[in-house]
Amino acid sequence: MAGTPPKDRIRDLRDAIRHHEERYYIHNAPEISDEQFDRLLHELERIEAEHPELVTGDSPTQRVAGRPVEGFATVEHRTQMLSLDNTYSDDELRAFDERVRKGAGVGGDPIAYVAEIKIDGLSIALTYDEGRLVRGATRGDGVRGEDVTANVRTIRAIPLALRSGPPGPIEVRGEVYLSRASFTRMNREREESGEPLFANPRNAAAGTMRNLAPALVASRGLSAFVYQLVGDGARAMPPTHSDALAAMQSWGLPVEPHWQRLDGIDKVVAFCRSWAEKRRTLEFGTDGVVIKVDDLALRERLGATAKCPRWATAFKFPPEQAHTKLLRIDVNVGRTGANTPYAVLDPVLLAGSTISMATLHNAEDIARKDLREGDTVVIEKGGDVIPKVVAPVLSLRPPDSKPWEMPTTCKACASTLTREDDEVIWRCVNESCPAKLRRGLLHFAGRTAMNIEGLGESLVEQLVEKAIVGDYADLYRLTEATLARLDRMAEKSASNLVAEIEKSKTSDLSRLIYALGIRHVGEKAAATLARHFRTMQGVLKAPIEALQSVREVGPVVARSVRMFADEPRNRRLIDRLEKAGVNMTTSLPKPAEEPGPLAGKTFVLTGTLSAMTREQAIEAIERLGARVTGSVTKKTSYVVAGAEAGSKLEKARQLGIETLDEAALRALIIKQHA
Ligand SMILES: [Zn+2]
Repeated sequence: MAGTPPKDRIRDLRDAIRHHEERYYIHNAPEISDEQFDRLLHELERIEAEHPELVTGDSPTQRVAGRPVEGFATVEHRTQMLSLDNTYSDDELRAFDERVRKGAGVGGDPIAYVAEIKIDGLSIALTYDEGRLVRGATRGDGVRGEDVTANVRTIRAIPLALRSGPPGPIEVRGEVYLSRASFTRMNREREESGEPLFANPRNAAAGTMRNLAPALVASRGLSAFVYQLVGDGARAMPPTHSDALAAMQSWGLPVEPHWQRLDGIDKVVAFCRSWAEKRRTLEFGTDGVVIKVDDLALRERLGATAKCPRWATAFKFPPEQAHTKLLRIDVNVGRTGANTPYAVLDPVLLAGSTISMATLHNAEDIARKDLREGDTVVIEKGGDVIPKVVAPVLSLRPPDSKPWEMPTTCKACASTLTREDDEVIWRCVNESCPAKLRRGLLHFAGRTAMNIEGLGESLVEQLVEKAIVGDYADLYRLTEATLARLDRMAEKSASNLVAEIEKSKTSDLSRLIYALGIRHVGEKAAATLARHFRTMQGVLKAPIEALQSVREVGPVVARSVRMFADEPRNRRLIDRLEKAGVNMTTSLPKPAEEPGPLAGKTFVLTGTLSAMTREQAIEAIERLGARVTGSVTKKTSYVVAGAEAGSKLEKARQLGIETLDEAALRALIIKQHA
């Protein structure tokens, strides 16, 4: 767009990106390809990089602040976030309607309700001021929640700026959720990195929202719906809930589209029945329908009990269950050596899919439920994606059945299984267990680990089976001649693979640590350890206290790293990798000791910034090596005063400390970066 002033082009791009985000993330009906969308975003990023003075907090490029937050501040909700009473049957729904009609004093007249699909996620409250997202908070205990604004900003279904709407502050409430597809993808990745799996999308969404790294939150693909506009008394609210939903929709907020306004409880019952059947057609988890009185004036009259409003109820769907035969209990061996039992079932249709396997969690769970091979069992699909076995049908139990016993040896290598005191999982600790080795090699070669392209499943299978590779270090002894003798291995691909393996030697220490598959050490923890300890020996020799004292390394990770390092076999493996020429150092910057151009300077922020968030300002200042502190002292180098700066600015003047307004701060940042 030669000739267009950058300011105008930025405005057009932002409008276009917001429009397409809404099409994609809210309406699920994109008008352009992902590639075209990325091109718009990249153009905007480029122009904003050239004109940093034109960047504003509500630009679509500013979703991820990038900087982990230290913790969540507690915030008070404008009005209490109530929970809902549950109903489980048509009769209970009708009883609810009776109570509403009695409270309303309308006799036999039907009440107008709004029925909405109940989203199985995490409740949140969003505040917009002058059409801009200024705060996102979790429900917490209903009175006080946690300020998760930085994380909420990464959710692309939530607009950073409203298309239209009231100018003053408004609060909308809704639910953050993870789609089934994102949930499946996330658990697959966690399984590969040896991290514990989330039980269901709701737990995954809640766990993600409480993560302190917005960049990680952004990568998880959370989405959101809003379902309530909160009045503050001062402003005229739409007279009905259905008007409020329509209004929120028109402002560009994500409203779940299947809601209906229904006259009388009969239609509500029919709506609930119909969605109990169709619930699996939705791309998100749902466990019921929320029914609300539409007329807000009537809601006022009905009021609330201490915990629940009298004008709404949640109808819970019955769990989807089926009966089938438990043919046998089998065991699967994972990368960490976990021997996990699972149920092999007589295939049965449940909730639209054929089920032939179900999780059994662990031996204790099987014993508690007394599940036996040959039993007829009840299986259930709840919020979880993987069906579970609920209970045996004792009346149908064959007379000769015996309680199931967990094997004492590994399914793959027959080594004796062990378990830690506080764990229910039995593990194979044989380092050369073929099942562990196979999974481990695939992980080691993975794209985010050592990135050895061409080392696929069938090849790994052969290398392990023919005892050519007994551990990760053996990979570095592979020759073209050895590889060329394997099935489906052409000369060309053998030489390519050898080159790939050679190339992997230069991988950064962070990748190597992750590739080793140390329990609980995912990509992020591996990078943190590398940045902090610099060399493999540094990590291996670090006492547990030193490991624990690293920010973002918890006691679980620290203990796991220590256990790994204390195992002589692992030490030998590392030695052999080192001798093979694998890089044992990192080139990642050391977190605290990068001397920036402003090293040694101290900043204090006060008042409200307009073009950037407080977090962004802190990040920018810290990137330049300076520190940001809370109170003004003689040692403070600069006080940055935004709008409505108070006593801190006063103090700075008294002490003769240089003050910067927002523009001056921005100029300083730009100058130092140049
Ligand atoms: Zn084994």
